[in-house]
Amino acid sequence: MSPVTHFFTGWVLGAIVGSDRRERAIVTLAAVVPDVDGLGIIPELLTRQSRHPLLWFSQFHHDLHTLLFAGVVTFVAFVLTARRWTAAVFAFLSFHLHLLEDLVGSRGPDGFGWPIPYLFPLSSRWTWSWSGQWALNAWPNLVLTAALISVTLWIVIRWGFSPVEVFSIAADRAVVRSLRKRFERAQPFGL
Ligand SMILES: [Zn+2]
Repeated sequence: MSPVTHFFTGWVLGAIVGSDRRERAIVTLAAVVPDVDGLGIIPELLTRQSRHPLLWFSQFHHDLHTLLFAGVVTFVAFVLTARRWTAAVFAFLSFHLHLLEDLVGSRGPDGFGWPIPYLFPLSSRWTWSWSGQWALNAWPNLVLTAALISVTLWIVIRWGFSPVEVFSIAADRAVVRSLRKRFERAQPFGL
């Protein structure tokens, strides 16, 4: 699925289970970070017309969608948080929600399903794909993303923190203030 869907999936999970801003940020990033291997798209597009194109996206995309990398992310969560094991378990879960979302709804425009090489580079066993996989731009992804954004808005207004807090506390305060003002006026029955 798209990085936007992964981001909101991780953030909603983090908002529910995280005990502070740092935990929420780590759980959020755990849901996004597997796609870092997709950054190879940039050199690949830039060199497409050249004599020696760099096929980094085609070759490496999904190489971080693995148990090994999940272990790295989980370890980082363990080290950086106060609740160590609890945060590590939720980072592990968040990472795997990303894999699940890719498995069910990331078919490319060319029909390629981007199998998940779960045990790479240790073994080629457990390479996951699903025949019922829908396309990246199919309606279930749009519905899921819209639902996640709705839940996010509800959390921002009710609980007083937003996804922007991952990047900046000051900007987060401003977002919460303005959304509360807007929605509390628009919906007199309260959210
Ligand atoms: Zn992915």
